[in-house]
Amino acid sequence: MAKPIVTAGGGFPAIVYTVRKGLQSGSPIDFVRRMRSRNACKTCALGMGGQLGGMVNEAGHFPEFCKKSVQAQSGDMGDVITADYLARTPLHEMQFLTSAAFERLGRLAFPVIAEPGDDHYRPISWAEALDRTIEAFRTAPPDQTFFYSSGRSSNEAAFLLQLLARAYGSPNIHNCSFYCHSASGVALGSVFGSSTSSLTLEDISKADLAVVAGANPASNHPRLITQLIALRRRGGKVIVVNPLRELGLTRFRVPSDWRSLLFGSQVSDLYLQPHIGSDVALAKAMLKGVIEADALDRVFIADHTSGFEAVRADAEAASWDDLVAACGVPRSEIDKAVRMLVTAKRGIFLWAMGLTHHVNGVDNVTAFANLALARGWLGRPGCGLLPVRGHSNVQGVGSVGMSPELKEAFASALEAAFDIRVPRESGQDTYASMLAAERGEVQAALLLGGNLFGSNPDRTWAGAAMRRIPFTVSLTTKLNEGHVHGRGQTSIILPVFARDEESQPTTQESMFNFVRLSDGGTPAIKGNLRSEVDILATIAARVLPEGRFDWASLRSHRALRKEIARVVPGYGAIGDIDGTKREFEIPGRIFHDPAFNTPDGRARFAVTPLGEFRPGPGEFRLMTLRSEGQFNTVVYEETDLYRGNRRRDVVMMSAEDAAALGAGEGDWVTVTTEAGRMRVVAAIVEIRPGNLAMYYPEANVLVPRRLDPRSKTPAFKSISAKVTADLPVRV
Ligand code: SF4
Repeated sequence: MAKPIVTAGGGFPAIVYTVRKGLQSGSPIDFVRRMRSRNACKTCALGMGGQLGGMVNEAGHFPEFCKKSVQAQSGDMGDVITADYLARTPLHEMQFLTSAAFERLGRLAFPVIAEPGDDHYRPISWAEALDRTIEAFRTAPPDQTFFYSSGRSSNEAAFLLQLLARAYGSPNIHNCSFYCHSASGVALGSVFGSSTSSLTLEDISKADLAVVAGANPASNHPRLITQLIALRRRGGKVIVVNPLRELGLTRFRVPSDWRSLLFGSQVSDLYLQPHIGSDVALAKAMLKGVIEADALDRVFIADHTSGFEAVRADAEAASWDDLVAACGVPRSEIDKAVRMLVTAKRGIFLWAMGLTHHVNGVDNVTAFANLALARGWLGRPGCGLLPVRGHSNVQGVGSVGMSPELKEAFASALEAAFDIRVPRESGQDTYASMLAAERGEVQAALLLGGNLFGSNPDRTWAGAAMRRIPFTVSLTTKLNEGHVHGRGQTSIILPVFARDEESQPTTQESMFNFVRLSDGGTPAIKGNLRSEVDILATIAARVLPEGRFDWASLRSHRALRKEIARVVPGYGAIGDIDGTKREFEIPGRIFHDPAFNTPDGRARFAVTPLGEFRPGPGEFRLMTLRSEGQFNTVVYEETDLYRGNRRRDVVMMSAEDAAALGAGEGDWVTVTTEAGRMRVVAAIVEIRPGNLAMYYPEANVLVPRRLDPRSKTPAFKSISAKVTADLPVRV
């Protein structure tokens, strides 16, 4: 059994790590100053910092920071990539760098280019880089281009980019959420007519039950664990739903809480381990239990919802035996969960990609939403549905228009404000752009941050598709795998300021629909960097017809915020934020009253079929997941403290399955799927037998190109896989 390297999540190792990273940053004083500066945390969308100061959360609590924020801040300081390194390191060598190795290279400090036939990136002047970019977009047919944004960027840059793209005539505008929480947006749009969290951070402090399904906040959103521990201290309960028993979801030491730090805190009261891809069955079983316990909120259902009778009939028609067999969770465990559900007064449901990364991701989210509605846990304080969002502004970039389709109010306001036509039919989503690239139908692509290559299923296919694009331009703080494996035939990479280096303030939106103002600051490194907005405005001014737009004024972030206020629904308060410094909650998204954004004002139940994912005989259910030392595609540390893995080329499996294969901890095995094959090392973990886990993004080579048809989210977590033990060589 892989033994965790720590006894609990967080704790003294996290404190030591923070100090070490501060020292490694090159200037511990500057590191602390930057961590405390009035900028939103650069990492996850839980949201810290902004005008209340760094390391302060939306409830005003200090200190709120975690290893993730420390890693991002420290990584932005220190080393830079030199021209000498690029000259010495051909692309055919760089392709063997891991994500962590790219991270260790440090910041990109000058524009670089690699052209067809080149085996190196080489420095290029800003003037030439921009000339080449402008030429590429001027000559490309607009419908053969796409514009992609990661969730790291600011609202201002994302708004400007979507405006540029739409004015230019390309509808192919998307962001990284198509590969993570798009299923949540589709499901919630149907449930209550809005696609983001229905609750605030404060609501968590009023709940007495939290169901954490398909999320591992101990690794990915560490400060959320503080909220769960506080909920338990108030006498509440936490149910975790996860096929793999995660150390950080059972026991955590919160460094900022001396009691927890010294003695440790239990995180969950009940840990349900369903089969991968069986969430609908488990949620339906819990709903059936709630119905049988006569614990429905009948008044809420009658007065504020629609569609319940069909969902009730569906749950009643499902047999307990079938549901238990489908999810693999014993009936006794489901009964315990039902007892917690029916005794709690106010419940919240939190989830992440454990629910969305499936061919039926929308149904998974809907099934848990049905459970919340059945208990009347929507539309009042202390209750609701919370998709645990990834990158710090992933919600914001979508809100301000980095999406292939805009809601009518947004589209018509944009048309009126800028005299452009916004097609009502959808442009390409992220995967559709990848398919177009594969067909040779993309001539140019602009990538605002992120690692589009690395976040795709079927890495081999993704790399080949992106390398067919004649021209790609990336705006980034650092190089990553995508700049090598997924570079266009001509690839230009432009170095940009990080959020806390911008000379003008920027804004970001948290997963609780709260918009923060980041002051910016000064560059942490020496180099020839530019602001994203400045670069995009320069491109826009020269690609688009002269005189149509005042691009010079749109270099001003303040002016962009005025435009966002005019155009983006719910963002009116951003127009005055420079003067008021008042950060704000986006109106119409949080539901503390049972009046929803659906046409009839009612929340909607929907029947959810059990799903088709059934591995064949001799096959396992494989999911990809992230580690404690990782954020999205960026790997900071290759050792996974919480799972005890000191390498990433592992397949995590149960002791029972390993024994059946004749493999033990550390033995080489081969994992084969319809997409590919990997030779990896077996790591024994507490996962339900029949299920496997491997690290994303490396294992994306095994992920077939299969999508949830409604959300267009690839099924990174419902993969049929075969495992064979190799020759008995133990490592
Ligand atoms: S939990 Fe998220 S927002 Fe909070 S400090 Fe950590 S990375 Fe930043």
